[in-house]
Amino acid sequence: MLYWDYAAAAPPYEEVVQTLEQVMRKHFANPSSLHRAGEEADKLIKRAREVCAAALDVLPQEIIFTSGATESNNLAVKGAALQYQSRGRHIVTTELEHPSVYESCLQLQQLGWEVTFVAPDPQGVIEPSRIAAAVRPDTVLVSVMHVNNEIGTVQPLREIGHLVKAANRRTLFHVDGVQGYGKLEAPLKAWQADLYSLSAHKIRGPRGTGILYVREGVTLFPLLTGGSQEQGKRAGTENVPNIVASAKAMRMSGERREEFTARIRPLKAQLEEYISGIPELVLNSREDGAPHIVHFSYPGMKGEVLARRLEELGMAVATRSACSSRLAEPSRILLSMGRDTAAALGGIRISLGDNHTEQDVSQLEQALLAAVQSLKIAEGGMK
Ligand code: PMP
Repeated sequence: MLYWDYAAAAPPYEEVVQTLEQVMRKHFANPSSLHRAGEEADKLIKRAREVCAAALDVLPQEIIFTSGATESNNLAVKGAALQYQSRGRHIVTTELEHPSVYESCLQLQQLGWEVTFVAPDPQGVIEPSRIAAAVRPDTVLVSVMHVNNEIGTVQPLREIGHLVKAANRRTLFHVDGVQGYGKLEAPLKAWQADLYSLSAHKIRGPRGTGILYVREGVTLFPLLTGGSQEQGKRAGTENVPNIVASAKAMRMSGERREEFTARIRPLKAQLEEYISGIPELVLNSREDGAPHIVHFSYPGMKGEVLARRLEELGMAVATRSACSSRLAEPSRILLSMGRDTAAALGGIRISLGDNHTEQDVSQLEQALLAAVQSLKIAEGGMK
């Protein structure tokens, strides 16, 4: 089976697995305990925080460890909205966001906040001026993702950050960076980002750990209370093995970014060119998108059906993103780009990783063609 779902979860680096095991065995003490073993565990977290901060060129005290990017995004959006409600109760976000941002905003809407959801252009890109036009004196937060997890489009964050701060310098700017880190540069300062979310298992770390950058001076209303861990922003005993291993993955994937993207960009281009040549398929990802995500639709065919057929042919692919792949509804992302329901139901995401070769891509292409042809014949037979 060839695995093409790196954007859902990437296999951990060998060093990450070793670190997990070592820390779990050796440093099991509670980092809040006052004895020496506790202090040692606490030191490991401190060191991991420094490593993550260095990878992002920020300060260690600006890094918060969470249980994943879902939590990071919930904390960024709801924590900022609740903390700064005296400044206003308006949020700006986009129709492209991951459910952890999108649904946090919907929840706030139910509680009385006003949310402006900015639509992308037909290519899946957010026009910065549309964000700027939505910012008001009472806008406390703007949340825009770096790379879309379904179609891989990259958002112009420098321009967006600049326009947000020009429109209202008190408005906080949050970036969901989950699909961008390790694939593209993440210049938080140039973006003027105040909050930035990451997930370890997308960058070859363990599942169940997230990172939230919180710029110094920004306060969040904690969603989890009951302890002073993570500077009181996130209570609960720290997952020490995961935190240490995540820092390792962050450093490694940051250091290897350029080499990695230089290797997979041509593979993505090859695959996209091939897909464009199959008349039944419509390519949704773009050449200038993230280097690891290829997305296409087979309008009129359910994505799940095509994915199952590809699995029978030895290819593990995704229908949209893992979080929504069990929903039989059309993709919100494709609909927001103006695609029709048939195309929005028939999406397939292929995400590339370090281990893929040109030969793997050729095998996938053959499988894709065979799958489309066999489904076409089966469909024809049913008419
Ligand atoms: N944001 C984006 C863009 C994602 O792709 C994901 C993972 N599907 C998340 C947030 C949530 O991350 P986690 O799985 O760590 O909760």
